Amino acid sequence: MASSPTVLMRLMASAYSVAHRAGTIVRNVMAGGDLGIVEKCGPNDLQTKADRLVQMSICSSLARKFPRVTIIGEEDLPSHDVDEELIEDSQCEEILLKAFPPQYSSIKEEELVVWVDPLDGTKEYTEGLLDHVTVLIGIAYEGKAIAGVINQPFYNYEAGADAVLGRTIWGVLGLGAFGFQLKEVPAGKHIITTTRSHSSKLVNDCISAMNPDDVVRVGGAGNKIIQLIEGKASAYVFASPGCKKWDTCAPEAILHAVGGKLTDIHGNPLHYNKEVKHMNSAGVLATLRNFDYYASRVPESVKQALVP
Ligand code: AMP
Ligand code: MG
Ligand code: MG
Repeated sequence: MASSPTVLMRLMASAYSVAHRAGTIVRNVMAGGDLGIVEKCGPNDLQTKADRLVQMSICSSLARKFPRVTIIGEEDLPSHDVDEELIEDSQCEEILLKAFPPQYSSIKEEELVVWVDPLDGTKEYTEGLLDHVTVLIGIAYEGKAIAGVINQPFYNYEAGADAVLGRTIWGVLGLGAFGFQLKEVPAGKHIITTTRSHSSKLVNDCISAMNPDDVVRVGGAGNKIIQLIEGKASAYVFASPGCKKWDTCAPEAILHAVGGKLTDIHGNPLHYNKEVKHMNSAGVLATLRNFDYYASRVPESVKQALVP
């Protein structure tokens, strides 16, 4: 008989269901028409009603079931006294049946840190670029991103009325990643995906030095990792501070689960302990394959400008 699910399995099964619910909330707010946009640090740093509702939904749903897990969400909002309507209690059964790597069996609740980006690509959400939007739940153990869930609420939104809207991608280091078809860009092609709303001279200088065949400018860190694992881009290059741990934790875990690599612009691994500073000050460099090609072409001037 199979043994009972471990803490990591139960947390992942809940995170999947909570992210799925989050996708519904994100769509409902859009359908309601009033996004309730608030500027946080300026016009390129926005928060909507969907960011707020999803943050409360994810953080309180997970905190109820896993009271000793550290949960760090992007939005500065209480996770207690949350409307019962926002609580998601279910767990994805399929995840509970998977054979998780044995090295995670003895993990205790209090050793896990969950990084939550309730809505990644908020700027794009407000501009109607709906497939750029994702919900990110990353799980870290001993400072390392080991598991993650990405919900893409508007996946398929241009595929016609019969198409099922939204999908959930998830992955665990040592187990693999699910909910999508892994694809690579054609051999020898260098296609870089980067920011569309937080660009700078440094960002563009770094990309130029890599001699790309094409540059795909899209919103969201979650969306850019989807570009990598679905063969639309070969590298995610962001030579700038601005991206935070909740942007990279879930995407990194999923990318690593399929053999890719995400680091800062120097090639240093990112750390996800609860005490770590939230900002990824030294930027982001991620690839599915050929990491060394891109890492070796980051200009010295860019490295000097981005201190970890
Ligand atoms: P982007 O690629 O511009 O969509 O950024 C990926 C993630 O990093 C999003 O969550 C952005 O909000 C965040 N981000 C990147 N640069 C900045 C910035 N300069 N200010 C605020 N957030 C940023
Ligand atoms: Mg984000
Ligand atoms: Mg966000």
